[in-house]
Amino acid sequence: MLNEKNNGEIMYKLIKKLFPICRSITGNGTRKTLEIISKEVSIQTFEIPSNTRVFDWTIPNEWNITDAYIKNKNGIKIIDFKNSNLHVLNYSSPIKKTLTLKELKPHIFTDPEHPDVTPYRTSYYHENWGFCMPHNDFLNLKDEMYEVLIDSTLKKGSLSYGEFFVKGKSSEEIIFSCYICHPSMCNDSLSGIALVTQLATYIKNLKNQTNYSYRFLFIPETIGSITWLSLNRKNLKKIKHGLILTCVGDSGNFTYKKTRKENAEIDQTVIDVLKDSTIKHKIIDFFPTGSDERQFCSPGINLEVGCFTRSIFGEFPEYHTSADNLDFIKPKFLNDSFEILKKVIQKLENNHGKSTAKPQSKPKKFSNNTEKVYLNLSPYCEPQLGKRMIYHNTGGFMKDILDKAKFSDQQINDEALLWILSYSDGFHSINDISNMSKINLEILKNAANILEEKKLLKLI
Ligand code: ZN
Repeated sequence: MLNEKNNGEIMYKLIKKLFPICRSITGNGTRKTLEIISKEVSIQTFEIPSNTRVFDWTIPNEWNITDAYIKNKNGIKIIDFKNSNLHVLNYSSPIKKTLTLKELKPHIFTDPEHPDVTPYRTSYYHENWGFCMPHNDFLNLKDEMYEVLIDSTLKKGSLSYGEFFVKGKSSEEIIFSCYICHPSMCNDSLSGIALVTQLATYIKNLKNQTNYSYRFLFIPETIGSITWLSLNRKNLKKIKHGLILTCVGDSGNFTYKKTRKENAEIDQTVIDVLKDSTIKHKIIDFFPTGSDERQFCSPGINLEVGCFTRSIFGEFPEYHTSADNLDFIKPKFLNDSFEILKKVIQKLENNHGKSTAKPQSKPKKFSNNTEKVYLNLSPYCEPQLGKRMIYHNTGGFMKDILDKAKFSDQQINDEALLWILSYSDGFHSINDISNMSKINLEILKNAANILEEKKLLKLI
């Protein structure tokens, strides 16, 4: 019992160490993060140079930042990066300028729905600079001159990631993946890092006696998983099961998002463990937005990788804001998550070589051949839609992920593009995709036309 409690405490301690670091998809923040993780488990780190082509994407220039602020006309800092790294639009290009309020306003990001907190926003692939602040503070800005500084660099460098591998009796692998790119937020991102680290320690201590081999990934979200999948393409066959772990430290009920195949052994296993636990939980079908399961389950990769969370991303008000802090998570909740995952591992180990799970090889909803069926021509991970100017450029907005009624038109369009790409595998008609996604057929048709025009899709 004491030991069990300790696992939660150990994870919380690691999160506390990682919390202040300003991370992004590249840069010294991720290196420092990997260095701290490597004190817990001896991960191997990799540096992949900027401009390396990874499937449809290119690794961007490396971003680093040392300082940022906005000073009012009296020289008082009204926003200071040193108080919270969320105050800077992540990946901001450097700037030093004096501006009017009118000139400054388009560069300030707020969340009017949660007016007292600072939102987390990113602009990785569209060069921009900006600040994030509570909406209420924004409304109080006076019409005066402001001195703006962002002391950042965007230069050739590399993308960093870490990996920890434990060999088992067979070469068949189970992977656990987390993302290391979020700055100071605890539940989203850091809790996943802590849980993957703790599971790595647990597996390491089993001293190669497991049936499966285990791989633990510490990668930047999206570009990191695309990079890893692209570099390890030849070995993907070995991966039998996997989970993306994030948002595992809050008090919310457990949520399991199934693999794209559904009814895979990992799906059955997690569902059985949650049922046996008698703890409240929610099981949701795969959808093509979310975390790195988007890439692991893209139609050309299609691995049996689900996503395990407590409150799922986008579903808690603290999500992607400064309120996702050290008070929002608790060692006990981290520990409960660890215990569930340990049971998942034990069950997979016991079932090794005896699974009767039958993942869908064909879709359940394929209708009739009078409907339009498309084929995704870029099925290995998501194609980079931002560079084709058909996708939003400022990231971090994903709110109310399961409640489409609250989506803006832009979000619906982005969603439609991803649904079409994910299920245009030759088996699903556009009507099937409309039924699954609950997105209006006309919006999907429009998205399909755009993708066809960009040569990412063809009618079959
Ligand atoms: Zn996030």
